[in-house]
Amino acid sequence: MSTSTSSSAGSRSFADVFDTDVVGRWAAPGRVNLIGEHTDYNDGFVFPMAIDRATTITVGRRGDRLLRVASTFEEGVHEASLDDLDPGEMDGWSAYVFGIAWALGRRLPSVEGLDDATASLDAAFGLDIFVESTVPVGAGLSSSAAIECAVAVCLADLWQLDVTRPFLASVGQLAENDAVGAPTGIMDQSASLLGRADAAVFLDCRSLDAEVIDLGFDAASLELLVIDTHVAHAHATGGYKARRASCEKGAALMGVPALRDVSVDDLPRAAEVMDDETFRRVRHIVTENQRVLDTVRTLRTSGPAAIGPLLDASHVSMRDDFEISVPELDLAVSTAQATGAVGARMTGGGFGGSAIALVPTEARDAVASAVAAAFADAGYAAPTIFAVHAADGARRLD
Ligand code: ADP
Ligand code: MG
Repeated sequence: MSTSTSSSAGSRSFADVFDTDVVGRWAAPGRVNLIGEHTDYNDGFVFPMAIDRATTITVGRRGDRLLRVASTFEEGVHEASLDDLDPGEMDGWSAYVFGIAWALGRRLPSVEGLDDATASLDAAFGLDIFVESTVPVGAGLSSSAAIECAVAVCLADLWQLDVTRPFLASVGQLAENDAVGAPTGIMDQSASLLGRADAAVFLDCRSLDAEVIDLGFDAASLELLVIDTHVAHAHATGGYKARRASCEKGAALMGVPALRDVSVDDLPRAAEVMDDETFRRVRHIVTENQRVLDTVRTLRTSGPAAIGPLLDASHVSMRDDFEISVPELDLAVSTAQATGAVGARMTGGGFGGSAIALVPTEARDAVASAVAAAFADAGYAAPTIFAVHAADGARRLD
């Protein structure tokens, strides 16, 4: 259901839309993937960090079993009953909120050690939820995980569900897969829930083991620039499917369950048993997994500036072997590298989206200006460029 309100969506607040008393606010960050691209569905490694851009929800307790949600996104209020949550009926942005409630209900019975009352949503009460965000949508920073994780920690807190953050990440993934209909992995939610200031989340996508690794960017006066090219390619979905298919073919030809099980030392044999295109796709995944491991090791042994060459090599691999870059991303990366970045790469699924550049703070503005100028010279639309910092994961604010 949707009803209009008179105030314009962008400037409205909880009190403009709802008349329940506010019981609290929760926030969850977006994320940026430092390294480890297309490795998730190959059972490999990723290394994302939560960022200092977040979705905040303000929440009121209702006396009934309705969830009512509104946002600065658009006018209107959407509502759903906790007794009648159907992922097939959810659409638009409210699916991210209702989807979490539905996915919690689906997953709770599988949690060991919960008593009957908390192993279902039977005792849950309705809520009014107002959503605001500083995570730009569609820039590769996972505004979707930010909204999911803010809602997930809020519902777990208010409904007193004794569950872990990895469990909530799996709830977020289920909501995104089944209620929103996006076939994504668990990286984004893991980063948003487990992230920590000046640290990144080393996630093993096979075991789902996660370890928070200090970055030391602050002490080294390094910052991460996000360069959003605003390029959105129509064939991104087709390209993603084709890359997944190549990876599955490569794993089958190597006789392993997933490319995670192929090492750099196995690559000469891989080159013999598959066509050149499949081999290059495989080589990207195999070397990218190794680069994630090398990045974590390098951070521990040599400090953050030493990871620059790994970021650069990741970009070359995505450009030449996996073939998911576009000229705008290549220009962003090469310009940043030439003007003071210690390393740069495209980030995200590819065929558009954002690049990241690890830059010394004193070079930040010069790199940003140089990239903007290079885009203007090339006749490309102006990119949006901003610094992000590794931040704490989802939490209750008050
Ligand atoms: P992203 O790369 O930013 O995660 P997605 O397409 O996965 O892009 O998710 C973006 C979607 O998430 C939006 O189209 C919207 O449905 C939802 N969303 C994100 N932020 C908000 C918000 N502040 N209010 C309402 N919906 C939001
Ligand atoms: Mg998303």
